Amino acid sequence: MKELVIDLEAEKKEILKRYRALLRACKPTLQKGDKRMIRRAFDMALDSHHDMRRKSGEPYIYHPIAVAQIAAEEIGLGTTSIVCALLHDVVEDTAITLEDIEREFGKKVAKIIDGLTKISGVFGANSSLQAENFRKMLLTLADDVRVILIKLADRLHNMRTMDYMPRDKQLKISSETVYLYAPLAHRLGLYAMKSELEDLAMKYMESETYKFIAYKLNEKKAERELYIKNFIGPIQEILQEQGLNAKVYGRPKSIHSIWNKMRKKGIPFEEVYDLFAIRIILDSTLENEKSDCWKAYSIVTDLYRPNPDRLRDWISSPKANGYESLHTTVMGPKGQWVEVQIRTARMNEIAEKGFAAHWKYKESTSDSGLDQWIQKVRELLGNPESNALDFLDDFKMNLFSDEIFIFTPKGALIQLPIDATALDFAFEIHSDLGARCIGAKVNHKLVPLSYKLQNGDQVEIITSNKQTPKEDWLNFVVTAKAKSRIKASLKEEKRRKAEDGKDILERKLKSLKITYNSENLHKLATFFKLNSTLDLFYGVATGAIDLKDLKDFQTSEKSVENRTPNTIEPNQLEGIINRVKAKDSDTLLIGEDMQKIDYKLANCCNPIPGDDVFGFITVNDGIKIHRTNCPNAAKLMASYGYRIVKAKWTSQKELAFLTGLRITGIDDVGLINKLTTVISNDFKVNMRSITVDSDNGIFEGSIMVYVNDTQHLDNLIKKLKQVKGVTSVTRFDSE
Ligand code: MN
Repeated sequence: MKELVIDLEAEKKEILKRYRALLRACKPTLQKGDKRMIRRAFDMALDSHHDMRRKSGEPYIYHPIAVAQIAAEEIGLGTTSIVCALLHDVVEDTAITLEDIEREFGKKVAKIIDGLTKISGVFGANSSLQAENFRKMLLTLADDVRVILIKLADRLHNMRTMDYMPRDKQLKISSETVYLYAPLAHRLGLYAMKSELEDLAMKYMESETYKFIAYKLNEKKAERELYIKNFIGPIQEILQEQGLNAKVYGRPKSIHSIWNKMRKKGIPFEEVYDLFAIRIILDSTLENEKSDCWKAYSIVTDLYRPNPDRLRDWISSPKANGYESLHTTVMGPKGQWVEVQIRTARMNEIAEKGFAAHWKYKESTSDSGLDQWIQKVRELLGNPESNALDFLDDFKMNLFSDEIFIFTPKGALIQLPIDATALDFAFEIHSDLGARCIGAKVNHKLVPLSYKLQNGDQVEIITSNKQTPKEDWLNFVVTAKAKSRIKASLKEEKRRKAEDGKDILERKLKSLKITYNSENLHKLATFFKLNSTLDLFYGVATGAIDLKDLKDFQTSEKSVENRTPNTIEPNQLEGIINRVKAKDSDTLLIGEDMQKIDYKLANCCNPIPGDDVFGFITVNDGIKIHRTNCPNAAKLMASYGYRIVKAKWTSQKELAFLTGLRITGIDDVGLINKLTTVISNDFKVNMRSITVDSDNGIFEGSIMVYVNDTQHLDNLIKKLKQVKGVTSVTRFDSE
């Protein structure tokens, strides 16, 4: 073993060097006395993290310094935030208390650091520590948005330095990042940070694809740069002629966004045309910036023909996160579409630094979408009914969406997310209006509640006093506000009904001589496959539960001792998690008979041996094995991190696993025949189903086959691709 030799003197020098670099980054915002305060925070952090090291072996203090540097440089935050960033881990990880912080640095700093400190404690199976922590963080967001901004800086640095973490931690942290932090960065207008977070997460979660796209991008770099040079040359010339000062450059799109496009459109890398965008950043004054941007637009579109469907004017109506820019897509040389983004230096700073830059210019913007958004978060958090996980789901939905603009009958402008319905609009105006809504008039025409609004619609809501919120409303509303209000009112209604059911059930149990106690009620709920006793009472009240089935329950109760349980009761969950996690090796081996614990392969992603997988402990269905790139994985890991177990395959040849293949091609006589010959005869693989669609000579088929492992599958795919007429063969997730 190699002995670790640490040169303490050299380290001390390095720490001071990094601290000085931080001070240089803070310079633009420093005021009298600030430097001393930052120094005091640095000294406290250095002293309290004194003996701690990161997984990489580096002194721990490197981390808070780096977080503070990101806060200053990449988000543009000021001294209070720098102080908080330096101290962000001391309360959680060292002997220093919040009171110490308050004494030294005052109430404001202490409050922000409290927001940055995780809650500890135990949460039941229906809750999630991560979700509760996130909710806590959002609660402080309503008070002080700097908590989230520093948290984002913290996350970004952790993601940048994650190579030394164990694989399961990397996956869990990456999942949280794509699920929560990247959308948040997006919502706060931190576009550069959002892209970097997504790219870093992809590097760990989809490393093969990540490396592949990075390689492909690099391969064509010189060619692309030449193209950009030729494209922007004439633009620069004319801008200058017309007296517009501007920086014009090409910017590569992020690996993650390219990958997204490939998945969404189902196309190979070669067919993604917009691997870069052109940016025109104008030097302009506040009065002239709009007309200057349109001047530049006119110059670009005189040179290159624009696609009329791809003009986006976020200067006249900025996005809710403050983003302002003019986007157009034009036809460049060699018949290639090129996206051009036109904005001023001020708008660009907002696009890169988001919230903080936005505040700097606040006087200049008449009303701020971000303010409205934070107001909405505040309202949502004010609803004590929602449970942390539900809340998270609803909240997340509102993070990524782009917005549309809707007018009230009096002409007031309301911002809503894309796909919002007339009912969302009603709830947006007022909860009561939403609850009593029976229809709407859109541009004077009568439409149903579920009508999807279009940008610029004028909406009038029609109500009735007899109306109450309905369960199926949840199927079409999209705003978090509408969802949480509908849920709260349904819950209230359910609770009222359940009271009746409770009485009925109590009488019935008495007549069957079953004791009415909480133990039996829970057993009953499980027997009817319900989540709670509230659902049980409600089911009885509505007649969804047939009371005659109580007899079956009685008999099943008597035979229960002879039955081996194949499901996990909620209260056993803790025990199982501990058992699985406490084993010598904390990894679940799939395919081994020794394993006493039941596992099943998840049918959302159909894992096969060779896939990167993890185990997820479910409440009713044992352990489910998912692929780490399963569409559900990010959410599971982010919300229920403690229920994840590491899993890997033991080598296994005799078992066959079901997986799906999507095949496209040119429909040729006998193509299906050729494909099935390869599958059944050449490969001796069993097929479970085959569906084929043929449209105008284009062939599209899905085939479910049984394979042994990824190697086996890869060989099969390779062979199928060689069949004449086949253009692509890809694996797909679920049936
Ligand atoms: Mn940290």
